[in-house]
Amino acid sequence: MNNKRISLSTPTMHGEEMTFVQEAFDKNWIAPLGFNVDNFEEEASSYLSQGLTEKYHTLALSSGTASLHLAYKLAGVKRGDIVLCTDMTFAATVNPISYEGGVQVFIDSETDTWNMSPEALETAFKKYPQAKVVALAHLYGTPSKMDEILFLCKKYGATLVEDAAESFSATYKGRQTGTFGKYNAISFNGNKIITTSGGGMLITPDKKARDKAFFWSTQSRENALWYQHEEIGYNYRMSNVVAGIGRGQLIHLDEHRDKKEKIYQIYKDGFKNLPIKMNPYLDYTKPNFWLSCMTVEDKKVSPMKILEKLNADNIETRPIWKPMHMQPVFKAHDFISVTDKPVTEDIFARGLCLPSDIKMTEDEQLFVIDKIKACF
Ligand SMILES: *Cc1c(COP(=O)(O)O)cnc(C)c1O
Repeated sequence: MNNKRISLSTPTMHGEEMTFVQEAFDKNWIAPLGFNVDNFEEEASSYLSQGLTEKYHTLALSSGTASLHLAYKLAGVKRGDIVLCTDMTFAATVNPISYEGGVQVFIDSETDTWNMSPEALETAFKKYPQAKVVALAHLYGTPSKMDEILFLCKKYGATLVEDAAESFSATYKGRQTGTFGKYNAISFNGNKIITTSGGGMLITPDKKARDKAFFWSTQSRENALWYQHEEIGYNYRMSNVVAGIGRGQLIHLDEHRDKKEKIYQIYKDGFKNLPIKMNPYLDYTKPNFWLSCMTVEDKKVSPMKILEKLNADNIETRPIWKPMHMQPVFKAHDFISVTDKPVTEDIFARGLCLPSDIKMTEDEQLFVIDKIKACF
């Protein structure tokens, strides 16, 4: 096979990115501050605050992981504190909790969205009433059951941190993901729905919190003529060059989302009459369809076999995120499930992420679907 590689998700650039980057070069603003950083924050804030009465504050940082790290610091995670976390996600959701000495307890998913199960979360709150922070990821761009999760956070007095790294532009009842928690993060890594090559953003309704995070992200320099430090700081700010890419990409975010939705729909239609289900979502939410995923409903066909077969045809697929409670690094951590067979283990065993690159042509996608059909 010498067809061109069909990828999971790669960057899609449009041209405006280069204009903003060029401006940074022309003005010699090549630093982790400048007009692109300020404008990118402002433009992202406007986008995220659509339909809200209050405008959310944003802080552009070097990665989504750095944004989550500062979110957990703002939420007050300290040594020995329990944090109730999404189990099926990328490790970056939960790693920064360890940077602060927090202890992750993993919460099983539900089958309607593949995200954190509110039922399992309530069980965890009863077991760990001291838990004061919940770390919630919206998997593959599908919004979680926000009403139920927020109700529980309120009931048990916990702060919600939303990891919207994969779900930028997805909405729950018309409201952007990344605006439900007190401290939230998105990512602009290379494979995300829009990219700056690498980068992230902290999102919060609290201006003081944004200012505190800014202080930490710039080495915790106190306001003095000399270099004065009273707290540990970080070098987490986004570069003005990188922010230029982000400004150009943001213009095309909705267009990326619409293309991703179309890809999902073509898979859904293509898999009719096959023992395959697409990753589900609630009808009152609008996912960003970052990655189209499927589960195999026929026990005789293994997703890893499909992965190998498609790879031989130069088609990239990936396993579903391996649940955190199954990771050797977290093997001493508790895992809360309310079903006999954990939902995350089941999705992991039967699931596969499909090519969702918005530059993929319809013919290429039909080729992928044919190759998958041939596995049954
Ligand atoms: C990509 C991703 C992150 C991390 O973002 P980076 O910008 O790569 O640091 C965090 N959480 C989830 C769920 C992600 O997919």
